[in-house]
Amino acid sequence: MDLGKRVAAWPVLRQLRTGDRLGLGEAVKSDSSAALRPRTEDADAVVDSICPFCAVGCAQRIFVKDDEILHIEGDPASPISRGRLCPRGSSTKDLVTSDRREYTVRYRRPGAAEWENLDLDTAMDMIADRIIATRDDTWQELDENRHRVNRTLGFGTLGGAALDNEENYLIKKLFTALGAVQIENQARI
Ligand code: SF4
Repeated sequence: MDLGKRVAAWPVLRQLRTGDRLGLGEAVKSDSSAALRPRTEDADAVVDSICPFCAVGCAQRIFVKDDEILHIEGDPASPISRGRLCPRGSSTKDLVTSDRREYTVRYRRPGAAEWENLDLDTAMDMIADRIIATRDDTWQELDENRHRVNRTLGFGTLGGAALDNEENYLIKKLFTALGAVQIENQARI
């Protein structure tokens, strides 16, 4: 670009020449910005949803093309989030599309150096067997003062902020019914 064109392209001159004194419109357009298109332009559907990460429940608009997610953004109609998403909510497209997403249960046996893949039924049976065995081995009817406690200190639960209210309700019910007393959630810290 010659010197005359470069000077003419200078932002302050463009703002004065176009009357766009605050540089919010015409003065800040360039050939490359004029060629930009919204990433949602090709979407054939928009699906209303809720961010799955935490109990705030920010509303999302999911733009879809050919049953594939194009983009996820905040829903301005939500009285809770008013179109905003925090960095975690803004990245939820990766939960579905990331090539690092795991589709099998990954398990490393005690002492092993390698991970192995388990099917979900096998993994669930292993977890249930260990809970039952630990509960049997560590069950306390009475504490050291002979007070009835009916509990186990052999296991507990620490939930994450991605759990919603309903999941936390069920986890609390389940672990209390099993006799656990160490029931906590990371979102309370
Ligand atoms: S993780 Fe962020 S975007 Fe998602 S519900 Fe919570 S605050 Fe909203």
